[in-house]
Amino acid sequence: MRYSALKVLKEALKGHTGWGPAWRNPDPKPVYDYVIVGGGGHGLATAYYLAKTYGRAGIAVLEKGWIGGGNAGRNTTLIRSNYLLDANEPFYEFSMKLWEGLEQDLNYNAMVSQRGNLYLAHSDSQRDVQRLRANSMRLHGVDSELLDLDQVRKRLPFLDFANARFPIKGAFGQPRAGTVRHDAVVWGYGRAADRQGVDIIQNCEVTGFRIVNGAISGVETSRGFIATKTVGVAVAGSSSRVMAYAGMRLPLESHVLQAFVSEGLKPIIPGIIIFGAGHFYISQSDKGGLVFGGDLDGYNSYAQRGNLPVVEDVCEAGMAMMPMIGRARVLRMWGGIVDMSMDGSPIIDRTDIGGLFLNGGWCYGGFKATPASGMCFAHLLATNNPHKVATAYRLDRFQKGLMIDEEGTGNQPNLH
Ligand SMILES: Cc1cc2nc3c(=O)[nH]c(=O)nc-3n(C[C@H](O)[C@H](O)[C@H](O)COP(=O)(O)OP(=O)(O)OC[C@H]3O[C@@H](n4cnc5c(N)ncnc54)[C@H](O)[C@@H]3O)c2cc1C
Repeated sequence: MRYSALKVLKEALKGHTGWGPAWRNPDPKPVYDYVIVGGGGHGLATAYYLAKTYGRAGIAVLEKGWIGGGNAGRNTTLIRSNYLLDANEPFYEFSMKLWEGLEQDLNYNAMVSQRGNLYLAHSDSQRDVQRLRANSMRLHGVDSELLDLDQVRKRLPFLDFANARFPIKGAFGQPRAGTVRHDAVVWGYGRAADRQGVDIIQNCEVTGFRIVNGAISGVETSRGFIATKTVGVAVAGSSSRVMAYAGMRLPLESHVLQAFVSEGLKPIIPGIIIFGAGHFYISQSDKGGLVFGGDLDGYNSYAQRGNLPVVEDVCEAGMAMMPMIGRARVLRMWGGIVDMSMDGSPIIDRTDIGGLFLNGGWCYGGFKATPASGMCFAHLLATNNPHKVATAYRLDRFQKGLMIDEEGTGNQPNLH
């Protein structure tokens, strides 16, 4: 069923009785050509592009809970492509371009909203670093802007400009950055993958790999053995646990990251604002809630909930940047498990086990990467070669010292 304005109108006239399920709920088959482990954004996008762009069939996505129950449905929905390093910028810009055409491609309203972001600078050296990043982006043909104090004051008059401890010197931003409704991304990719014939199997946990003569022959699951010669693992915060089934130890640590939403307010935050003197970022949802977050919880964990010291820390940073936030009541907060890599950059690569591929290490920032990650992982699974914008995301870079040392914020998991 295609969604359209006409369809909405017709359904409104007949009491919305004609909407079918957005995807099927099939039982697992005994054999698949491709098994994707993890029904988050990355796993579903991989399955979709594998079928649609690379013309492959016999694909299953195995999800231990419900699709979008992991980080895909828990993040703060920010997208951007404002990276500094050559290994990262083309990848994230590729992702941004895919976001820009995503809703038409998937026939799904994902509420892609390019409102722009602004990173505040509180010192002269921070201004220099921002200029470097803005220029580097321009060299890659990507939009960026630098604002002086007056321009920031005009755009964001509610910030604390009189804060002597954290004076605002200016800002750097990307006008094409923005937000996307995270659940809708999962549902959109899920529905579109299903329409391409992909089996999305929920409540199906992968509990082991069957490896024969150094190559994958199938996966053990909570719903029985499934034979396959190609497995793509995209389980984000559970990467270390799942790859341990194959005897692999990854250069990743899992940490809790929290998100917060306030009561609904009238529109006040025009885009995304990032504090430069602490870890705090904020945007406003279409329903009016202030959506914000900050640092990791500070210890390794697989729990999808956070603790109060970080709540206090995040709210303090928010108050330092815009004191008026103290009047808003927090309505909801939750945690997700992020897979922090040791250089802050992701991994999209083969492994030494034939037919076993890994997509992980997305740290704080994998939501924005979802479309490109799916496309690049699908490319790798289909061709056994890395996509041209993901050649640096190799697993052996940690062994060889070829780090891509660029964080969202918090690229040093050892310090958390
Ligand atoms: C609070 C928070 C805020 C964030 N904010 C942003 C942001 O603003 N911008 C941004 O770019 N990024 C952000 N991120 C990061 C981003 O959400 C993640 O990097 C990204 O979603 C990870 O990829 P995914 O969607 O595939 O992961 P997930 O949605 O976590 O998918 C992995 C799936 O694998 C499943 N799984 C695990 N083990 C197994 C198993 N054994 N068998 C079968 N299935 C299994 C899980 O149940 C899960 O559904 C944030 C993360 C958090 C937690």
